[in-house]
Amino acid sequence: MEQEFDFENRIVSAEFSGEDAAEVSLRPKCLEEYIGQAKVKENLSIYMDAAKKRGESLDHVLLYGPPGLGKTTLAGIIANEMGVNLRVTSGPAIEKQGDLAALLTALSPGDVLFIDEIHRLSRAVEEILYPAMEDYGLDIIIGKGPSARSIRLDLPKFTLVGATTRSGLLSAPLRDRFGVLLRLELYTPQELAQIIERSAAILGIAIDRAGALEIAARSRGTPRIANRLLKRVRDVAQVQFDGVITQSVAKQALKRFEIDELGLDEFDRRMLTAIIEMYNGGPVGVDTLAAAVNEDAATIEDVYEPYLMQIGFLSRTARGRCVTPAAYKHLGLTMNGQQML
Ligand code: ADP
Repeated sequence: MEQEFDFENRIVSAEFSGEDAAEVSLRPKCLEEYIGQAKVKENLSIYMDAAKKRGESLDHVLLYGPPGLGKTTLAGIIANEMGVNLRVTSGPAIEKQGDLAALLTALSPGDVLFIDEIHRLSRAVEEILYPAMEDYGLDIIIGKGPSARSIRLDLPKFTLVGATTRSGLLSAPLRDRFGVLLRLELYTPQELAQIIERSAAILGIAIDRAGALEIAARSRGTPRIANRLLKRVRDVAQVQFDGVITQSVAKQALKRFEIDELGLDEFDRRMLTAIIEMYNGGPVGVDTLAAAVNEDAATIEDVYEPYLMQIGFLSRTARGRCVTPAAYKHLGLTMNGQQML
């Protein structure tokens, strides 16, 4: 029987995992330290300067893009640069209207409330959020039956920073209430190398430029993966080499983790191969594909596909996903799915 792929421990998963707990110390604290995302930084700094000049809180901000690109980090930077507190929560953590009401009433003027995975808020909770975002008001129903009445509490002016993987996942009324919509892009290998060098300096890891670039090229455009690979490679460098991460040390360590030169692991290869072997290279719909590789359709769309599309291995057409000739070549397969000799 084919061995099951261990999704939980996928090294190149962009999702937060236990081994990323040290991330907090690696998070940039101000915009200047935040590498890449030039457009996002430029827009944010203009909006923040304007709000500060007017002595107001920043408009509500929606950040969207694949996991691990720095959305939580940016929320922290906004709070820090505006000189206010940051409160962090997530869509699934806010179960009832009362949970959100408790969070909102505990805010101080100007505070940043960060809601990760904001697309997962329930409808009932979303409805409380609308007047809070728009008029800084909280409508509470007191009593039951015919004697029930609604009273409005005033909230301090706050900034909601919402994060989601795709802006299309949000309901239109919620999306419309954000004044600033910022899309985060996958990072270039050069930017990731800079992030790796910065993290290495903080963690006291010796690495040269070529070593950083080697890890960067395999990090799928994602800082979280870059930081994780850096720590894994450091372990190999210390045990098997003299502790310094050079290009050759990085190459050997990453080979051991079965991550190829482009950052693809067994799951990517299996997904591409499935499209080639079962659907003749595509087009195949995402739900069919999800069933074929036994993975959630949303995870395929949000986590795996953006990188495979960025490197030109997958194209998205109206009729479904297609594998490109470049991917066949990388996998060593001919266009009719045969192994190249
Ligand atoms: P998200 O909220 O989008 O899943 P995070 O903000 O948690 O991502 O970022 C993951 C890690 O990547 C952080 O610990 C941070 O150290 C690092 N990181 C993200 N973006 C940057 C950046 N632009 N510059 C430096 N490090 C970054």
